[in-house]
Amino acid sequence: MSNEKVITGGCLCRQIRYEASGAPLMNVLCYCENCRKVTGSICMANSMYPKPQVRILSGEEMIKTYDDDQTDSGSVLNRSFCSNCGSCLFTTRTVNGVTGDFVVLPSGTFDLGVGNEEWVPQREFYCKNRASWLPPLENTVQLSTM
Ligand SMILES: [Zn+2]
Ligand SMILES: [Zn+2]
Repeated sequence: MSNEKVITGGCLCRQIRYEASGAPLMNVLCYCENCRKVTGSICMANSMYPKPQVRILSGEEMIKTYDDDQTDSGSVLNRSFCSNCGSCLFTTRTVNGVTGDFVVLPSGTFDLGVGNEEWVPQREFYCKNRASWLPPLENTVQLSTM
């Protein structure tokens, strides 16, 4: 056994469970319109992992995927969710029919302790869409788009 950090997570109804091991490539808040729509919130808080670091533990048959092709970048975002409870789960990106080798996990599905201190954003995407009442964060790279 390695002593890599393993974080577990899953959907609201707990049928889909996963684990992510090691460090994420990046933690990002995204304020783009698509991320707002898919979460129903003011932004999406995401961790990007190399695919081999993420393992589905249960409920794989419950996963449904919506291919979001109305993106700013023109690439297709394969946004998966639980077909039972609707929680957002894994997102991958497909460009010209080729799916990328990273997977995006929404940090709200991680099993984090009180205060969620383990998850800290490093970048903010689509700050041009950021709500004006939300004070700027310290220690993030803030990008107008991405
Ligand atoms: Zn569920
Ligand atoms: Zn976004």
